[in-house]
Amino acid sequence: MPERLIFEISREGRKGYTLPKMDVPVDSFRSSTPGKYLRATPAELPEVSENEVVRHFVRLSNMNYHIDKGFYPLGSCTMKYNPKVNEKASAMSGNADIHPLGPQEAVQGALELMYNLGDMLREIAGMSAVSLQPAAGAQGELTGIMLIRKYHESKGKVRSKILVPDSAHGTNPASVAISGYKAVSIKSNQNGTVDLDDLRQHIDDEVAGMMLTNPNTLGIFEKDIVKISKMVHDVGGLMYMDGANLNAIVGLVRPGDMGFDVVHINLHKTFSTPHGGGGPGSGPVAVNDKLRDFLPVPVIEKNAGKFSLNFNKPNSIGKVHSFFGNFGMHVRAYTYILSHGPEGLRGNSINAVINANYLLSKLRGSFLLPYKARPMHEFVLSADTQKERGVKTLDIAKRLLDYGYHAPTIYFPLIVHEALMIEPTETETKETLDEFAKALLSIDEETKTSPDTVKSAPTTTPVRRLDDALAARNVNICFKE
Ligand SMILES: *Cc1c(COP(=O)(O)O)cnc(C)c1O
Repeated sequence: MPERLIFEISREGRKGYTLPKMDVPVDSFRSSTPGKYLRATPAELPEVSENEVVRHFVRLSNMNYHIDKGFYPLGSCTMKYNPKVNEKASAMSGNADIHPLGPQEAVQGALELMYNLGDMLREIAGMSAVSLQPAAGAQGELTGIMLIRKYHESKGKVRSKILVPDSAHGTNPASVAISGYKAVSIKSNQNGTVDLDDLRQHIDDEVAGMMLTNPNTLGIFEKDIVKISKMVHDVGGLMYMDGANLNAIVGLVRPGDMGFDVVHINLHKTFSTPHGGGGPGSGPVAVNDKLRDFLPVPVIEKNAGKFSLNFNKPNSIGKVHSFFGNFGMHVRAYTYILSHGPEGLRGNSINAVINANYLLSKLRGSFLLPYKARPMHEFVLSADTQKERGVKTLDIAKRLLDYGYHAPTIYFPLIVHEALMIEPTETETKETLDEFAKALLSIDEETKTSPDTVKSAPTTTPVRRLDDALAARNVNICFKE
């Protein structure tokens, strides 16, 4: 039976609690509150018993797929397991119950935690300063491009364009456009990396900077990165690193050493904080000396063992988020970093790369690998062969749901036909990877023997194929029917 809405379970007068009879006048609140703030009619709330509420939401949570339930091979998203110790630390009263407007003397521990986290991220990035304010990778990008703009402003000319490879995540050109720059697409070569000849043709003194993901969205390390950085720097541009793929390189390579001037770090990817239902995330930016004066305010400073907030930064771009960003995420990332230590973090990156390459070795006999270079923490297959049998990547992704898995990222990056982008992360066991590979290989067999089974998937999920295009265009339709 489909789960009913909680309003359908509701029965008038039913309650989820029993309380002793009130011994104070019931209407004192009504009589002491100005009439304009009072409701004319009671709120329409469901009336249900406690066990009905609990069971309703437990049943809904069972329908949902999440990282605590199963493997989540979503490429580019780094859906690793979120250790429970992170949650424990963030729920501690000293972290969860403080107020962002509390006096600085009373929140020294929180300031210290953010100061230390910034310092650790700074070291990992090989940069000189960090802002924890941005609430996601995309907002980190916007902040970074605003910093680059401010830098050029201080030199007298903001310039007009930012170079972005054609394999980039969609947020890259979007951040560029929102910042008032023109995004200029740079081609990839047959190895899946930046085509240096195409880059050369677009380099001139109108280039404010270049945005690059490394390893890139094919999971391939840009081997020419030092050369690329030099080309951009030679014309006075700056280098932005989209750090979404940092999980492949923590403790192995530092963005600062590759020539980047600014990088964002997705704490909800590399540092195991939850992605949530679209948030809250956290996307700190780390910068080198060229950009540190422009960082958002306030900056947390340490003097003689005391922490304080410095709002007096005349060249700052201002604030990009209220207070300090999503503090609960900072606590989780800090816990993750401390509980692993430098060797542990480096080990995680190495294992993420090993896991991806192991899984690839099982799948590449049945699915095309358009770019042959050895990938790092993720890889992008093409279902072009399966498409010849009449089955699209979308069908394969939907069929995986019937096998009990979340689907990988599909149709991204755009330069791969029928793309399946798979990122296992380091937190999965060999057995999990073996089972997942078995499921994909079995679906490949089905594309030969019973393609209609794949095309009509999913059949075992709470809902079948949704018309997501219609839902995106007409949000209200969900509520009307
Ligand atoms: C996830 C991702 C982003 C955007 O980060 P959000 O935290 O989702 O805003 C940008 N670039 C790449 C390559 C990503 O994978």
